Formats: sequence, structure tokens, C-alpha cells
Amino acid sequence: MGTWQIDAPVRQDWVVVDSLRDRAVDALTDPVLAEVVDLVAWPDDGAVVVSNAGGTVRLRPGEPDELVEGVSPVANQDPMAFLPYDEECANPSPANAGNAYPYPGERLLSLFADTARAPDLAVVHTPRHFFPEVGGHRGEHGSLDVVQSRAPLLLSGPGVEATGLVDDHARLRDVGPTLAWLAGATPDASTGRLLDTAGVPVDGAVLDGLVGRGARWVLGILWDGAHCGDLLHLASQGELPAIARLLGRGCALLGGAVAEFPSLTLTNHTSILTGVGPGRHGIIGNRFHDRDTGRTVNANDATTWHRSGEWLRPGVATVFEQVSRARPGAATACVNEPVDRGAGYSTMAVIRASGSSDGATSLARALPNPDGSPYLGTREHVADGYYAWATQVDDAGVDQMLTLWQRPSDAPALTWWSHAVTDAGHHAGGPRSPIARDSLRDADRRLGAFLDHLDLIGVADDVVILLTADHGFEGADTTCRGDWDDALWSAGVRFRDEGPGFVYLGKGMER
Ligand SMILES: [Zn+2]
Repeated sequence: MGTWQIDAPVRQDWVVVDSLRDRAVDALTDPVLAEVVDLVAWPDDGAVVVSNAGGTVRLRPGEPDELVEGVSPVANQDPMAFLPYDEECANPSPANAGNAYPYPGERLLSLFADTARAPDLAVVHTPRHFFPEVGGHRGEHGSLDVVQSRAPLLLSGPGVEATGLVDDHARLRDVGPTLAWLAGATPDASTGRLLDTAGVPVDGAVLDGLVGRGARWVLGILWDGAHCGDLLHLASQGELPAIARLLGRGCALLGGAVAEFPSLTLTNHTSILTGVGPGRHGIIGNRFHDRDTGRTVNANDATTWHRSGEWLRPGVATVFEQVSRARPGAATACVNEPVDRGAGYSTMAVIRASGSSDGATSLARALPNPDGSPYLGTREHVADGYYAWATQVDDAGVDQMLTLWQRPSDAPALTWWSHAVTDAGHHAGGPRSPIARDSLRDADRRLGAFLDHLDLIGVADDVVILLTADHGFEGADTTCRGDWDDALWSAGVRFRDEGPGFVYLGKGMER
């Protein structure tokens, strides 16, 4: 447990927090809030307790779930739920009783493992909850549930069997170890896992059942928030020709890759690129409070992306560091990605070197005009500020990629390339909306331009490509409104709510 600023003697800290927690849980699991609170979770003596208006369950890794009362809020834990995709379309943003929550104990315990930064209570919104007052959008993610946690996972090129769609799933934390292994890192012989810098096996597995080594170049691509089911659906309809090109020479998992909890951007970018869960890498949310420093960290922001390395916990190794350790001198590159520590070339390093006091914020003025983007399919979307900015950033991403890959002799052994527009499109309209689908089409045009370039320089058969995202998306219901903060205040709970959904309890935590 961490330390809390409270009136009681130090010896009784945990008692005070436990009684506050009980009061908070009572308030949050009141049926009055069931429309907006899907579930709450907190750590308890090596286990995690999950509760909502319908019941409570205690989860401990390796043991059967222990039902405390009512119905378990995470009764269905099937990572392949809502497949085939028609089932998801027929049951959008389901209520708790009809929803599924893959790996709930393991994922929640990973969050709570960082006792200085983890909240006392994690509160998960219902998929339908619309909360624009505190940053919510028409499309949202962050939940423990399967659809918000489902990112696409495609593999293509040398070493990949052209099996097309595969009825299976992986974890996002497997992505980095797989890329590092493809680029030359060697797993520990006894566990089959890569080791962190402290010699501890990482959480993620090498996906050697899907891909073999041997490609000269390794390329990882992230389309932020790209919806797994809709991406594969549109590709099958001929609407994403570059994705179809990848699939023609590879495979995609129908269940995608399961994100860590919360299914938020920077938490999962970091898990992808380090192979460990949030409780080990330390970036437990886009925003979190650190009891050790007394500060709140807003890690997912234009002013702070270039500083992500500052919040990584000791022992963590990025894919770039894993590859450098195995192959000293091998070139690595990291395009438009905050989690860049150890990369030979990095967009964020350019921002750090610029000395810009507000990170990427003022540098955005130097980006190409979004109206003139050759990859923008529907001009009207630049009226959305986030979409316009993402268009600029992603266009600059293509420029960086073409420069890095100008000649085969220049190409990095490992390249990581992040895209933002898919997140912008899905936030703006929710999955399957016209703007979300257009964002996938725009990203596909950028990918197509790069694949054309690989053909041009004659290396297309020598590059193994992995394409993924950091989370999924579900659509909010604009009539499903409300907030839980008032209920907590009314119950006399002193707290700080970051995220929202990370509730830190106790006097001195209030903002
Ligand atoms: Zn994201």
C-alpha cells in the first residue's frame, strides 16, 4: 500500500482508507449509478475485488473466481466474445450482464502492482456512458471490456504464412517482444521470454507460432485506436487496399490483441513497446497521481509525449533497447511515438533537441497544412481539430518514413511507425461512423504509399510487417449521461478522480 495524507496516526492509515473505500464502493455500486458505472475494482491482499450493483467477485491469479455476492461483474471472460463481427454490430456497447471482460484478474492486478501510482479504486464507465464534461467523446475506450480492449493484429511478409484470417487472439504486450525477437533479440532459454534489464522475464510472449525469423528488416505499425472488427471488415470489402495487400501475404487474428487495463493510449503504447503490464512499466494511465512525488502526471499530452522515458520504472527495456543489447550498432527508428527510449532515430528526440518548452505544441506550426494532404479523403474532416492535427502529424510521419527508407542501405533494422488519425476519427464518431471509416481509409492510403515505396526500392520481400493498435473503441449513447463524483462527495468521501476513473482516496487528495 502507498502512503496517504490523513489525520489518523500512521499505523492506522490503511484502516482509514479501507473505511473510505467501503463508503466509496457503496456509493459507486448504488443501482442509481448503474447506467454509468460498469464496475469498480480494488486490490485486496494479493487479490483484486470487482464489484457493481449486481454483485461482487474476488479474483486471484491461478485460482477459481470467488463469488462474494450476487452475480460476478466479470462472469464472461472470453477474449473471442462478439465474434464474428456481425455479433458485435448487433450488440453495440452492451450492458454488463451481456458483456465480456478478458483476463480481468491479471490485467487489474498488473495495474495495482504499482502501489505508488495506482488508484485506490478503479472505476470503469459503462460502454454507453457519454461524459463530454470530463473529456468523453462519441467514441470511447479505456474499459476492461473486450471490444474496447481489442486491437487488430496483422502480420505480413517473409516468415509469415499466408493464412489470412485466423480464429485466435494475442495480447498487446506480445507485440514488442515479437518485434525485438524478429530483429535479433534472444529470449531466455528457460522461459522463452525476453528479459528486462533486471533479468526478469517480460510479461509478453514471442509470437513465434505466427511468424518466423529471417526477414532483413522489421517494421511495426500502430494505427491508434483502429477498430479491429471494422478494419478487417472494410479490408474484406476492398475498401482498405493496403491492408488487403498485407493480408494477401500474411494473416490477421480475428480476436486481435488484448490491451492492458486501462485500454488507454499511453498505457498500451508502453506495454506494446516494453512487453510488460502497466504495474511494471509505470505509465498506468494517460493521467495518474504519484504518491511518492505528490504530483499528478499527464503523460499523454502534446506538451509531455517527448518525456515518456522519465516515467518508466527501473528494469524496463524498450524494443529499441532490446535490439541494441542483442545487436550493438543496429539501426532503429521510432516515428511519431512517445515511447522511444533507445531508438537511434526518433521524432520525440527531434522535439527534445529543439528545446521547445511546450514539447510538440508549438512545433505543430511547422507541420504541413492538413487541407493540402494527399491522403485526406474527405476535406470536411479538418473542421475537427483533432482530425486536422492528426492529418498533419501522420503526413509528417510518411515523410519521415520515406526519408528513413530512402535507400535499402539506409533502412533501419527495426522501425516503429505510429499513426494518430484513426484515433481522431473513432473518437469523433464512434466505430463504424463515416468519419471513423474515413480515418481508416486515410491511414490505408499512407500505408499504401509506403508499400509502393518498398516495391520501388526492391525490398518488399525482405520486410516483415506487424500492424496493430493500442485499444479498440465503442460508441457512447448521448442520452446516457451522469457522473459519479457527486455521489462520492455526498457520501462524504474525500478523493481525487484522475482519468476519470482513477479514484485516489483521503484527505489531501482532493484537487
Ligand atoms: Zn490510443
